[in-house]
Amino acid sequence: TKNELITNVAHDLRTPLTSMTGYLELIKGNRDIDDETREKYVNIAYDKSKRLERLVTELFDYTRFEKNKLQLSLVRLNITKFVEQLAEEFYPSIEEKRLDLITSFPKSNLYIKGDGELLARALGNLLSNAIKYGADGKQIKMELVEDKEHNKVIFSVTNYGRLIPQKDIGKIFEQFYRVDASRTSTGTGLGLAIAKNIIEMHKGWIEARSDEYGTVFEVFFESDL
Ligand code: ADP
Repeated sequence: TKNELITNVAHDLRTPLTSMTGYLELIKGNRDIDDETREKYVNIAYDKSKRLERLVTELFDYTRFEKNKLQLSLVRLNITKFVEQLAEEFYPSIEEKRLDLITSFPKSNLYIKGDGELLARALGNLLSNAIKYGADGKQIKMELVEDKEHNKVIFSVTNYGRLIPQKDIGKIFEQFYRVDASRTSTGTGLGLAIAKNIIEMHKGWIEARSDEYGTVFEVFFESDL
């Protein structure tokens, strides 16, 4: 229900906010705090404020998508270049988690009709999930393949580590749905709902599976020859 959703969101927003005000209060009311400790507290408060900013951005995005206010601006997009750039963008967080990113793209560039900004959001959400939930899986795979017969371009991200239970896999694209929310404190359960929305606005679709070969998110686009 709507009330439950609001409670969940309010809870997610309150957690970083409480921590932020807590650390700022420690600094504010304490003159004899040493520089090192002060810096540590400031950094924590800063990280929490960035997290809060991300959560609010996701919420805004989501409500915008829901009301269909968003206009697509489609261009002929070199999806190969685009995915390579995405990999570069995420390189620091992949390194930070000590993961190897394995990419596989066809030799010749592939094209789709797409809105670069929105697709960066959608595919970025998939990649950041793979990093977040596949952190103990050692590697992440990112692949782009062409299905000539059906005139499709397929983008996929695979991560390893803990699987998504079969009973949950059909629900993860629902707004605010999170598998076993206690597993990790970060996230709103909106990332996949946003990604799905954007992909469908592009007349594409997204599928997920999670088994002994890994957790795979596959996106199908119409190719633009
Ligand atoms: P969030 O990550 O903010 O919780 P998402 O909508 O992006 O929300 O994902 C919904 C849920 O699906 C996550 O909470 C997580 O349990 C599961 N999930 C998503 N992506 C992956 C993945 N790559 N590997 C394992 N679990 C995932």
